[in-house]
Amino acid sequence: MAVALPLPLRRTFTYRLATGMPAPLAGTRVRVPFGERILTGIVLGGEPGPAPDGLREILEVLDAVPVCPPDLLATAERVAERFFAATGEILKSALPARLPSSGAASYRITEKGALGAASAEPDERPILQRLAGGESVRVVDLPGEGLPRLSAVRALEERGWIRPTSTFRPCVSRPEIAYALGALRGAERESALGRSRKGREAVAFLDSLGRAASGAEIRASTGAGAAVLRGLVAKAILRSFEQQRQADAPFSPGGQPRFEPTAAQAAAIDAITAAVRERRYFPALLEGVTGSGKTEIYLRSIRAALNAGRGAVWLVPEIALTPVFARELSRQFPEDAAVLHSALSERERAEAWDRVRAGKARAVIGPRSAAFAPVVEPGLFIVDEEHDASYKQRESPRYDAREVVALRAKQAGAALVFGSATPSMEAYHAAQVGRLAHLKLPERIAARPLPRVEIVDLRRQTARPDEKGVPLFSAPLVARLTEVFSRGEQAILLQPRRGFAPFLLCRDCGHDFRCSRCSVSRTVHDRGQRLVCHYCGERAPKPARCPECGGAVLEAIGAGTERVADRFTELFPGVSSAVLDRDTTRRRGAAAALVEGMRLGRITCLIGTQMVAKGHDFPGVTAVGVLSADTMLHFPDFRASEKTFQLLAQVAGRAGRGDAAGTVHVQTFHPQHPAIRRAAEHDVAGFAAEELEFRRVFFYPPFCELAALLVSASDRERASEAASNLARALASTSGALRISGPAPAPLERLQGRWRFQILLRASDRRSVLAALAAAVPERPPAAVQIAVDVDPQDLM
Ligand code: ADP
Ligand code: ZN
Repeated sequence: MAVALPLPLRRTFTYRLATGMPAPLAGTRVRVPFGERILTGIVLGGEPGPAPDGLREILEVLDAVPVCPPDLLATAERVAERFFAATGEILKSALPARLPSSGAASYRITEKGALGAASAEPDERPILQRLAGGESVRVVDLPGEGLPRLSAVRALEERGWIRPTSTFRPCVSRPEIAYALGALRGAERESALGRSRKGREAVAFLDSLGRAASGAEIRASTGAGAAVLRGLVAKAILRSFEQQRQADAPFSPGGQPRFEPTAAQAAAIDAITAAVRERRYFPALLEGVTGSGKTEIYLRSIRAALNAGRGAVWLVPEIALTPVFARELSRQFPEDAAVLHSALSERERAEAWDRVRAGKARAVIGPRSAAFAPVVEPGLFIVDEEHDASYKQRESPRYDAREVVALRAKQAGAALVFGSATPSMEAYHAAQVGRLAHLKLPERIAARPLPRVEIVDLRRQTARPDEKGVPLFSAPLVARLTEVFSRGEQAILLQPRRGFAPFLLCRDCGHDFRCSRCSVSRTVHDRGQRLVCHYCGERAPKPARCPECGGAVLEAIGAGTERVADRFTELFPGVSSAVLDRDTTRRRGAAAALVEGMRLGRITCLIGTQMVAKGHDFPGVTAVGVLSADTMLHFPDFRASEKTFQLLAQVAGRAGRGDAAGTVHVQTFHPQHPAIRRAAEHDVAGFAAEELEFRRVFFYPPFCELAALLVSASDRERASEAASNLARALASTSGALRISGPAPAPLERLQGRWRFQILLRASDRRSVLAALAAAVPERPPAAVQIAVDVDPQDLM
């Protein structure tokens, strides 16, 4: 039998069945010997008949029913092939790590089984007798043993004579304590509150929220901990009770859509739902300006899919940043929603997977990995913010979720909706040539205008003496923010780098404190107290003197979010602000708390990296400031321009989503750059026309298929030589290829390894894959690693 193992090897392994062992179905997990180890793999299929001698035997079959449904197994194999990855690794990313053995499931007899008992096979009869009383019994407690018992159970289940009650014991997650306002109100409450600042904040928070909140939620937003809250309960200012955790609890018992769709929304919904009902493959680009109401289209399409008896998968870049989507899905479809987010425990993930696979939950929302959600009879796949780079996995296996759902949609005859205000050049081009239907929402809801964007030329702004010629807050931005805050409106500030400053410089000798293991300078963190390498995570306290020359004047150059936040407080004392970036959102729930704080108006100004640009809908935001638009322009990546355009247009789109109009200030040293100008004009078509022309002329995606090969070793010579050999091997394959390199990768050294890059281009994927198959050795030379990234989104 062919078995896929979770190893980075692009081949399957063949194992023999022990005598008398019934052949496990494809998609079943088995334990097999591999070298000295025992691994869990997935059966792909193969001969159940006699296997040649010399093969090793399958040790154990873990599941009575396949954990991976056949359609998904086929998808995994196709994805592995298309991304030059290992099927076993793809399956490993697709399946939850701790899926319990489905042999541990419990079963109950069905009416059909009770009626048919007399005509059952001899090995089935004892099982039916044991179940005859109607109770639910675990497979291990049923009569019989091992595999014969499993195969009898399977046969009975296939005939519908017994059915699994639940693969899991019901999830009883620990309840949490929630708080609501208590009996005390008005002046009485005022005097009981006394001087406790945190207590007052907690009460104000609950007041503004208008509902109960969990202790964790209150602490995240106000800093009031359990002791403070208990004190308030003791004074009858609050009351407390136990509630189910938010993650498990449906938001409210079922719900209707929130709005009547606009005409433009209705047209898109009609096109999508017609395909869903007709079981027709319908790939579409939903290009809707920011604030045009794409979410409502997704929700209505999901409703239509469920009504048609089909399931839906809704991919979002980062669920923690858009908790309202998941909440709305759970509110509208409390029975059917499954939220797959990264904060789930392995057990919760396995439970969700099982609910979905069993057809109990049919509407799934989640990030990249949810592309593999085992939805039964899928009729709709949505990729929200389709342009987002997070859909491509950077580590092995390097698959692209967009392609995964495209394969599944085609196979299932489903609608496939790529939604974005700033489509990727791939999607835009596909829509132009008719491979994607082009659905458009050209206007914001309620005909709200798109925000006016002002480009601020930093060359004409005077910097403060400590700013080294690069002003942080330009005069026009400060003036606008002052106005906005005085009206009680909110703002978002984007600074695309985290930490205090991008690097530290010795004023005497110019030493720049590079990481000892990576070819990048370390970033200054903790208000200048620490140096951190953003690539390998290495941290060190800031030295008092330069290690090279002993110089004492060490200067933090440039600004990250931390420094921007400090300067903000200086400029706008008393205006509440918070930082949203990778550093401030490490704790589980922290991102959602910040987003919620912004939504409720507790935070007036949100400062952050690109995380502030992601799909948020804060109606109170009327001003957006981009402190530096240039960071990404200089990246050595053919997508630098596209990514800059998308980031600017997306962050601009956060302004003016409510009743008051919005403005955007974009600070840049390159005011004429097309990416910046077109973003300021909200001109997707104009940007795409120029950008696609560049891609066509220079033979880049979407006009070619690209693969990046990265050869690395801790010894530079060794890496360089292996890279040259690989390039030669590629060149000697027969296809029509364009090979660039080897050249040192933009990030030449990472975690102590030297890296060389080869770019391989051809006009079709098949040629790329054929060349890779012919040239990339199954085992690289000693101490060398070869990483292949097909259709890379990141060329560092
Ligand atoms: P997008 O994802 O296109 O940026 P959203 O889906 O966030 O836009 O919608 C923008 C705002 O308009 C949201 O506040 C949403 O609740 C509201 N909205 C969407 N559709 C309608 C509608 N048909 N009528 C009224 N308001 C709507
Ligand atoms: Zn490093």
